[in-house]
Amino acid sequence: MKILTTIDVNTVVTVHYTGTFPDSGEMFDTSRQGDPLTFLVGHRQMIPGFEREIMGAKTGESRSFTLEPEDAYGHPSDALVQEVPRSMFPEGMPIDLGMMLMSDAGPFRIVAITDSTIKCDFNPPMSGKILHFDVEVVGVRAADESEIAHGHVHGPGGVQHDSEKTNEDSNPSCKIDKSCCGSD
Ligand SMILES: [Zn+2]
Repeated sequence: MKILTTIDVNTVVTVHYTGTFPDSGEMFDTSRQGDPLTFLVGHRQMIPGFEREIMGAKTGESRSFTLEPEDAYGHPSDALVQEVPRSMFPEGMPIDLGMMLMSDAGPFRIVAITDSTIKCDFNPPMSGKILHFDVEVVGVRAADESEIAHGHVHGPGGVQHDSEKTNEDSNPSCKIDKSCCGSD
């Protein structure tokens, strides 16, 4: 007999998932065409309802659940829609309604265009949506200390720090030096 680890805070979980809109049945995302998704539970890597609904599951288990916006990507906020001067965009750059662009403040979608201004919507594209997920747990393991300190998975399916590949185990400074992880 083998005792299986169940999903909890500070476990590394690998899942296959398919997300659909419950109203239409339309699929918006799936891992089934590629590698399963690996993440560290309890470190805000996933939307809150997703983690909550798979708590206690073990390898081989499947769960299906539907999340309200507050448990998924939240409700859209007017405060995240900004009208900016057209001059802020590089000259000659093609700008179309509905286009997704990247900025230092995060990704945004163009929702209105006038001669002098462009309205940018920073709300997550999935905000306000009810989402259904079918999840199959492919693997669960305890996270190690450095993963918990960094707040993400190391190794297959996770972050590959060049410096850690060779000396993570022998170099304890990696556990407190978070510079390798980008901004917090
Ligand atoms: Zn790391």
